[in-house]
Amino acid sequence: MGSIVTQNPGSALIPAASGRSGDDPIFALNAEAAARAQKGESILNATLGALMEDDGTLAIMPSVVEAIARVDPKRAAAYAPILGDPGFLRAVVGDLFDAGPLSTRAVAAATPGGTGAIHHAIVNFLEPGQSLLTAEYFWGPYRTIATHTGRAVETFPMFDAGGRFDLESFERALARQIARQGRALVLLNFPCQNPTGYSLDADEWSGVADIVRRAGEAAPVAFLLDHAYARFGTAESRVWVEHAERMSESAVVLVAWTASKSFAQYGARVGALVAVHPEPKQREAIRAALGFSCRGTWSNCNHLGQLAITTLLVDRELRARADRERDGLVRLLRERVDAFHREAAKTTLRFPRYEGGFFVSVFTPDAERTARAMRAAGVYVVPLAGAVRVALCSTPARDVPRLVEALARGVAE
Ligand code: PLP
Repeated sequence: MGSIVTQNPGSALIPAASGRSGDDPIFALNAEAAARAQKGESILNATLGALMEDDGTLAIMPSVVEAIARVDPKRAAAYAPILGDPGFLRAVVGDLFDAGPLSTRAVAAATPGGTGAIHHAIVNFLEPGQSLLTAEYFWGPYRTIATHTGRAVETFPMFDAGGRFDLESFERALARQIARQGRALVLLNFPCQNPTGYSLDADEWSGVADIVRRAGEAAPVAFLLDHAYARFGTAESRVWVEHAERMSESAVVLVAWTASKSFAQYGARVGALVAVHPEPKQREAIRAALGFSCRGTWSNCNHLGQLAITTLLVDRELRARADRERDGLVRLLRERVDAFHREAAKTTLRFPRYEGGFFVSVFTPDAERTARAMRAAGVYVVPLAGAVRVALCSTPARDVPRLVEALARGVAE
């Protein structure tokens, strides 16, 4: 008989993977809010980043449902090409750049949403051990993806004393990073940044582009625009494309494109990483690197979703319908943003310039305390360092007065 091992052999999980929180903290808060509501409490849940109708159900677009139904089942059931369906990739590049000059200098890979695009940017434009650079308020999964891939996140102060995007801090932080790492990956999420709601204006975009272009002359720099909420920004927010053109003279411009918010289709996981480079040889190298990353992670993405979203982007009639339906969602959100401004004007709440989008953040000296006090009043928001994030995307206009009152009390706690 063999000997019985009595010694505890220890965890088979490697140390780095031990003790990790498997749950996104926002999903955990959402679950708590849902459990209280189920017990009959009056709960206002402003945590989750999906656009909800006023009746609390997920807002969806009928044109998207129709496009999915139209897809040939035999095509949908087949594997998509590793890099993504070529028609889909062309449609995404066209969606971003129309027939402008950048459209001829772009390569792309399909990814599961913007999340996958951010992953591919991090593993291909930073060495292990290096850090990406983003603003001090940022979407938490940036850090999860960076940590998971052996990279890290560094931040710079987002707002100057006048409440505008802090270009000086950005430039200083970028220079420091280049001096230390010899390269940089800048990751910014505009318009309608998650979590602050902030959108860069034309002057701020111009400043960012100048800084990135100068930095790109000194070292290899990649600039990644997280485009998740672009369809919810103002017309002015499209100016980034002109500035991307200028940046691309010396830096690689990357765009994390996603259908999650723009087509209210979070579950299909349709996205792409688009990379702009003026030199064909470099473009081919980037395309090959992205293809390798696809094969080495998810292999290939949802074919049904890519085909349906392609139709929505290229079929004139369906595209026009989708645009009209999205306009309706933007109007729904607009009512909530207007209600927020109206109510907040009666208080001393401080928050960044907010022209629209899924979220706004309200500054507070102690975010945990503010969020706790608000939870006690049945109102759920997400605590960040120095602010709480409020998801107006899931708050009907009629509930905004209660939300703002709870915020005012919570900040004053
Ligand atoms: N970037 C930001 C700032 C987001 O808030 C989200 C989703 O919440 C994403 C990217 C990616 O979403 P998805 O992977 O569904 O495209």
